[in-house]
Amino acid sequence: MNPHNAPDTPTTHPLGKAMNSHNASDTTDRHAIVIGGSVAGMLAARVLSDFFARVTVVERDQFPDQATFRKGVPQGRHAHGLLVRGINILEEYFPGFVEALLKDGAQFVNMGSGVTFYIAGKRLPSFESALELLSCSRPLIEHVIRRKLQDHTNVQILSGCRVEGLCTDAEQRRATGIRYRQRDEESGALSELSADLVVDASGRRSPLPKWLAQLGYTPPESVSVDAKAGYASRLYRLPAGKGDVPMAYYMPEAPQQSRGGIVMPIESDADERLILVTLIGLNGDYPPSDAAEFEAFARGLPASLFKTVIDGAEPLDAPYGYRQVENRLRKYDKLPRYLEGVVAVGDSVYALNPVYGQGMTVAALASRALHEELAAHQARQGLDDLTGLAKTFQRKLATVIDAPWQLATGQDLRWPVAAEGHQTPIATRLVQRYFDTVLRTMPGDTVVAEAFFHVQNMLKPPTTLFHPTVVYRVLRARRATRRMPLEASRAPRRRVADETAERSLEKVS
Ligand SMILES: Cc1cc2nc3c(=O)[nH]c(=O)nc-3n(C[C@H](O)[C@H](O)[C@H](O)COP(=O)(O)OP(=O)(O)OC[C@H]3O[C@@H](n4cnc5c(N)ncnc54)[C@H](O)[C@@H]3O)c2cc1C
Repeated sequence: MNPHNAPDTPTTHPLGKAMNSHNASDTTDRHAIVIGGSVAGMLAARVLSDFFARVTVVERDQFPDQATFRKGVPQGRHAHGLLVRGINILEEYFPGFVEALLKDGAQFVNMGSGVTFYIAGKRLPSFESALELLSCSRPLIEHVIRRKLQDHTNVQILSGCRVEGLCTDAEQRRATGIRYRQRDEESGALSELSADLVVDASGRRSPLPKWLAQLGYTPPESVSVDAKAGYASRLYRLPAGKGDVPMAYYMPEAPQQSRGGIVMPIESDADERLILVTLIGLNGDYPPSDAAEFEAFARGLPASLFKTVIDGAEPLDAPYGYRQVENRLRKYDKLPRYLEGVVAVGDSVYALNPVYGQGMTVAALASRALHEELAAHQARQGLDDLTGLAKTFQRKLATVIDAPWQLATGQDLRWPVAAEGHQTPIATRLVQRYFDTVLRTMPGDTVVAEAFFHVQNMLKPPTTLFHPTVVYRVLRARRATRRMPLEASRAPRRRVADETAERSLEKVS
């Protein structure tokens, strides 16, 4: 790959040569375009490089040479946890991914003994988990993926170019490429780039629905569940000799405990440790981005580590806030009519409340779905004719998204602001209550904690939490807790339907 560097071309059109010489029926020169060069876009580009002679990633930002923040991914300032399933898929598509991260300063931490977890307001005991997480910044993850993508010589990155629309055939049945504008160009002229397939990976604010509507297509229905979550993050420096700070996660707990946070040591040099502190608030209890209020919010968390970092380390920047992280699903799988030659992946289709840390991993799962669907299409009708791919891929993707969507929205619907206007079916309430009980069991039972970690990291299906061993331990802990008068007096008032749901859960188990 040749990042930031387009082929030799005439004046205003960096890839004009490629466009003019391109012929969709020429199988030796099949071309795919990816809009957006973040995690979902790069994973899609990696997959496409196995099926297309050329792949061009078009990104509006100029990519930094280092692992630093960039404007097009504002969430990059906040703590990003990569689930173990995501690590595994990234390693599969980019062999040496983990080694490169570790070389650049990321650290593996054991989920049981290396992370200080607070769940349901209580600290989990230290235990040796089978799972290890990576502690590093989001820009480093992206930087390493981008470097690894460079091993694929048929992938080019066109950075500093904003895509502004799709090109189609005369009948507007098929996308034939994109229109884009170089952002730093004085003239601001639009250029075109043709392709056999366009993949939209432009994130939460994707313009694809608008472009489809402009072409006379029904845009996807959009559904959202908004627990009014917000983030605020600040970077701290811990001078050498001040000891180590472990990764910590104080998990908010619906619907009582709206505040939480993450302490994440990130890549640092020998003289100082860099610690990212991310504060989380749900149900509209947004963490502040004013420095003094940020620190007060952090100190207020009943987990001493936040206070330790704030007191012992020096802040390196002002706190950054981020809101509008609602779960939002665009139902591309249900379109009445498809514009051929264009598919959507990543946050452009499903943007999940980041509290559950699923986004990058679901992007990895989506890239695998794209791989499988392209292989199936190739076997069915070859890749010269991509008719039908848009529909079959979006339907396949919908099945991939279902479980992460259910997990995120199922939990979020427990927050009063999210539940407003939504009818939560009794089955969902039943699962919510059971899930709640699982969380409350974890601080006292590492077997249940380990089962939960496997589900959370998408290594095992959610049904694992209904395995008889887990159910037995959860209900045993619950009965013991119920016998405690203090807990009984703290029990929230429940509706009759919830009581019925719980009784049936006990009968089932
Ligand atoms: C506060 C916050 C915290 C998060 N924490 C986690 C976490 O802990 N774990 C996790 O797995 N996920 C987390 N996520 C989600 C994660 O960031 C995304 O799921 C992940 O980046 C994949 O998104 P994406 O690649 O689809 O879109 P994005 O990362 O949003 O990237 C979209 C890209 O498209 C580019 N672009 C947009 N429009 C155009 C255009 N017209 N032309 C050209 N380029 C364009 C943008 O510049 C950008 O590079 C978090 C998200 C937020 C908001």
